[in-house]
Amino acid sequence: PLPIVAIVGQPNVGKSTLFNRIINERVAIVEDRPGVTRDRNYARASWMGHQFSIIDTGGITWEDSTIDEEIRAQAEIAIEEADVIVMLCDASQQVTSLDERIARLLYRADKPVLLAVNKADNPEQRNDIYDFYSLGLGDPIPVSGAHGTGIGDLLDEVVKNF
Ligand code: GDP
Ligand code: MG
Repeated sequence: PLPIVAIVGQPNVGKSTLFNRIINERVAIVEDRPGVTRDRNYARASWMGHQFSIIDTGGITWEDSTIDEEIRAQAEIAIEEADVIVMLCDASQQVTSLDERIARLLYRADKPVLLAVNKADNPEQRNDIYDFYSLGLGDPIPVSGAHGTGIGDLLDEVVKNF
């Protein structure tokens, strides 16, 4: 079985954009597995000769509505399944309390976690990510799913954990 990489984070940080970017550039087949809700999308990807499965999750929230509960449950399943977790944050927002709650969820997972900070679209934004050290998940890696920058650096770190 291929190693599994899950992308998690609060809604709107750009998880699906990053997922599509990784797939478009490196992937043979995108498959919707039967029986999996659309809140967890799987695809096969590769980087530097390493094959892996990648999971895009619905954003994690702690609202009480049934839909948010379901999305969180899907994200928790993804975290359980994953061999490596990419936590994605938003450089345009700095650290939110939701980021902090998700980070605490990830400490408990006891799995390798990489912290990526998306929407770092220009050099100024790439240099302004130091706040994210406070999440206690190591060095923040600046990426831009929209522009396709930083993704190779992120994937280099991901495949080191296989
Ligand atoms: P998700 O909810 O985490 O899956 O986020 P989406 O991938 O749906 O993106 C949410 C919004 O952020 C969309 O409007 C995207 O166009 C925008 N977005 C995603 N990645 C980037 C990025 O790298 N830079 C900027 N500026 N916007 C982005
Ligand atoms: Mg999404």
